[in-house]
Amino acid sequence: MDLQTAETRIEELRNLLNQYGYEYYVLDKPSVPDAEYDLLMQELLTLEEQFPGLVTPDSPTVRVGGAVLDMFEKVEHRIPMLSLGNAFNEQDLRDFDRRVRQAVGENVSYVCELKIDGLAVSLRYENGQFAQGATRGDGTIGEDISANLKTIKSVPLRLKEAVSIEVRGEAFMPKRSFEALNEARKERGEELFANPRNAAAGSLRQLDPKIAASRRLDVFLYGIGNPEAIGAESHSGGLDYLDYLGFKTNKERRKCATIDEVIEFVNGWVEKRPHLPYEIDGIVIKVDSLDQQDELGTTAKSPRWAIAYKFPAEEVVTTLLDIELSVGRTGVVTPTAILTPVKVAGTTVQRASLHNEDLIREKDIKIGDKVVVKKAGDIIPEVVNVLADQRTGAEIDFHMPTHCPECESELVRLEGEVALRCINPKCPAQIREGLIHFVSRDAMNIDGLGEKVISQLFAEKLIGDVADIYKLTREQLLALERMGEKSVSNLLAAIEASKNNSLEKLLFGLGIRHVGAKAAKTLAIEFGEMEKLAAASKEELISINEIGDKMADSIVSFFEQEEAKELILELMAVGVNMEYKGAKPVSAADSDSTFAGKTVVLTGKLEQLSRNEAKEKIEALGGNVAGSVSKKTHLVIAGADAGSKLAKAQDLGIEVWDEEKLLEELNK
Ligand code: NAD
Repeated sequence: MDLQTAETRIEELRNLLNQYGYEYYVLDKPSVPDAEYDLLMQELLTLEEQFPGLVTPDSPTVRVGGAVLDMFEKVEHRIPMLSLGNAFNEQDLRDFDRRVRQAVGENVSYVCELKIDGLAVSLRYENGQFAQGATRGDGTIGEDISANLKTIKSVPLRLKEAVSIEVRGEAFMPKRSFEALNEARKERGEELFANPRNAAAGSLRQLDPKIAASRRLDVFLYGIGNPEAIGAESHSGGLDYLDYLGFKTNKERRKCATIDEVIEFVNGWVEKRPHLPYEIDGIVIKVDSLDQQDELGTTAKSPRWAIAYKFPAEEVVTTLLDIELSVGRTGVVTPTAILTPVKVAGTTVQRASLHNEDLIREKDIKIGDKVVVKKAGDIIPEVVNVLADQRTGAEIDFHMPTHCPECESELVRLEGEVALRCINPKCPAQIREGLIHFVSRDAMNIDGLGEKVISQLFAEKLIGDVADIYKLTREQLLALERMGEKSVSNLLAAIEASKNNSLEKLLFGLGIRHVGAKAAKTLAIEFGEMEKLAAASKEELISINEIGDKMADSIVSFFEQEEAKELILELMAVGVNMEYKGAKPVSAADSDSTFAGKTVVLTGKLEQLSRNEAKEKIEALGGNVAGSVSKKTHLVIAGADAGSKLAKAQDLGIEVWDEEKLLEELNK
């Protein structure tokens, strides 16, 4: 790159970073994910390294944090509160270790701490009494937020010893408080906070301490402004001293003798991280010896004796290349975003469902847009929002088609639905999706018969309905792509075995509208055999708990269809079981268990049982396990890290048990 191009790009980057920094630090309202900010910052750092003549003292690369709000008294930090250098991978950590050892020799040990995602605060004590609390601000001048900090229960107002000390740490909002806060704001129609960090920062910069007090914040202390003053020799010794004085420090810290140990610690937390009750965005690694810290010194922005390892981003920016349409089993046409592949939280994402046209309008998504992508619940990719200010004008509006992309019949929007549907019962896409559903896990569970094989068999006209699956021959299967003797034998055995499935699996597999896996089970238990269910009237059906009007109608009309009657006869003829084979559960009425007739909600992580096991056991004792907490809930079982459901239960005054109590009752 030549000097002039570099200059232009540097200017561009500084403008963007200043704007994003202002939104993040001052307004507590970021408009782009952290990963985007970090990427631009890295680019600027690299350019400034290549063109040192272009470095200016006000560049975002040499500045700490943001501007200081006028509404608070200003506090000058006697010792500056710095930021940290970043490491994004193992190599960056090894480079840091090399730089440290080059400067202070081989005898180095490190302390690893969780990098709490909140905001840095400083707490000053005079003779053991809380004197003042401040934000980091621009590192030199912060804001006096003493009144708000004093509302945090873990901030001690008096210490064990009458020392004068300045401690530093991270104020944060636990996940549970964050979820409850956003839920309450949603109910009141107020704007939601983007993440716990911004919620914490916004809460601490309120003029009214009552608001801060209501937000249930917390704090972990991780350092002493003037450690020499208290005679500490090491960072870890300083932390132990903070514990002794009555401060809350984070106990998940570890002393490491080598960088390999550090890397092992870092990798361990990538997996454990989601289970913490608060957010962390990385691991901070610090040289333990204070003498060595002194020797290493600091740059204008950050100490040379520490580095922050940042976890792989959970929200990233990518380009939406196209919108593809697919027709589901029930005829619903779903738009899917095709993305330039990107890593999100460690795995590559290139597609994300956009659900329906309303959502595309609501988020104002156009083809060619830069979009923010995350994994919802850490699994399913989702387009969070569009970066409209990065549009070039070449983006294209998207419109849903009027006709089915598979069979070209006209699409309809059923009353009360947002989705567009193809209602042609002969639509090949629907038939194919119905077949895929039939063999899926919760339905007939036929191993080896996945989406690809079904699609091939369907395309070759070897199967047209689900009964045809049971008529497939060895020769037909061997002729398929990538099917050897062994896999064909396994597949035939799996098809054969599925004939013995209990009735509910078949019922669910048939894909009767509105009948999910749970309702299928209820129906199977209640009627015992297919013939009786097929003959049931609407009245009989709605007399069953859990079966509503809509579902009853749908079941009756399903069994009235000639095609359905024929299909069931055909399945019977090939030997598919038509009876319920499971245990008859104790009915609520004649059970004297604590769970009989009660609606129970499970939340959080259970240690001894899987969610499914707990659910089965509760149901076997006559309880009903529901997915969400409402006034109708009788009991909530809260495992580790329970979030908004627990908060809601507490708000509604619903009885809450922990796992231990659940096990006790189950074992009675
Ligand atoms: P940083 O978050 O990279 O690291 C420094 C901070 O880590 C410290 O000030 C302290 O508050 C915190 N910390 C947490 N636990 C710690 C521990 N155990 N020991 C020491 N420190 C600990 O630096 P920063 O200057 O606060 O913020 C920069 C980051 O903020 C960027 O990397 C970016 O991710 C984010 N940011 C995002 C936007 C945006 O628009 N999305 C804008 C500006 C900044």
